[in-house]
Amino acid sequence: MDEKKGLFGMIRDRLTRSRENVAQRVDELVHNYKAIEDEFYEDLSDVLVMADVGIPAAEKAVKQLKEHVKAERTDSPERARAILKDILKDELRNTRPPLKWPMVMLVVGVNGVGKTTTIGKLAARFKAAQHSVMLCAADTFRAAAADQLSIWADRAGVPIIRHTEGADPAAVVFDGIASAKSHGTDLMIVDTAGRLHNKKQLMEELNKIYRILAREYPQADMRTLLVMDATTGQNGLQQAKAFLDTAKVNGIVLTKLDGTAKGGIVIAIQQALGMPVWYVGVGEGLDDLEPFDADAFIEAIF
Ligand code: GDP
Repeated sequence: MDEKKGLFGMIRDRLTRSRENVAQRVDELVHNYKAIEDEFYEDLSDVLVMADVGIPAAEKAVKQLKEHVKAERTDSPERARAILKDILKDELRNTRPPLKWPMVMLVVGVNGVGKTTTIGKLAARFKAAQHSVMLCAADTFRAAAADQLSIWADRAGVPIIRHTEGADPAAVVFDGIASAKSHGTDLMIVDTAGRLHNKKQLMEELNKIYRILAREYPQADMRTLLVMDATTGQNGLQQAKAFLDTAKVNGIVLTKLDGTAKGGIVIAIQQALGMPVWYVGVGEGLDDLEPFDADAFIEAIF
């Protein structure tokens, strides 16, 4: 990625080129209406829904906007835009809990969303910050999963613990913990099975991993990250809900934000799942992962 332009500059570029450009549509609204009227709110709702914000989140934001507009006694569409930006920033603002070491990141998400790539990017990111990192291939359901993860371990230059296909995922985690302890590893990132069709089985698998971690590695800070694909829009939300029922998710990594002009999905996630987006993926490369910054993001899409 172009270093100077940065993540949000890039998102802005994408949005500018897009038909679904939120900023441009809001601009048009602000210029087309001399004063705030009912239709202004309706059009604004439509723009938000088209940007993947989703109907509930769009309605909520517009309702709040109306209250603020009334309280301020303003009728300026320009001012309404500024208020809306503040409302959305507040909605998205969340603080990642401070990092504590040693740490285990358990990464969940359906196959294809970019889970393996994200693990590689996370490993590279923390390694670049001078932390020792290792990967743990606990998706033993498909041999290819561990192979793919090994490729990313090589790219990031970090070790990986893997067993053979069909091995007990909890046994891989057990070995991972032993290795992390003996090497004094700061961060162990655990890949888990990416299938949801058998929720009960996945839940049992994850619970077993949680139990091993609690028993063998109580000193480690535990985080579960759910990886979601920004390009799947509202459908992805349904899958994510199923994962939230299954795993103790702490935060979201939203991948492929470079592949969608509809940045509003971030707002929809926050609203529908009540779950903060911690990182966003913006490309296929090792460096294409950024911490999510609500203020910069809203400035970029509006
Ligand atoms: P997994 O099955 O969930 O482990 O998914 P993979 O990590 O194998 O990724 C699936 C595809 O998505 C691959 O082609 C990746 O290159 C691609 N991918 C992952 N993250 C991103 C991203 O942030 N942006 C883009 N454009 N592609 C991504």
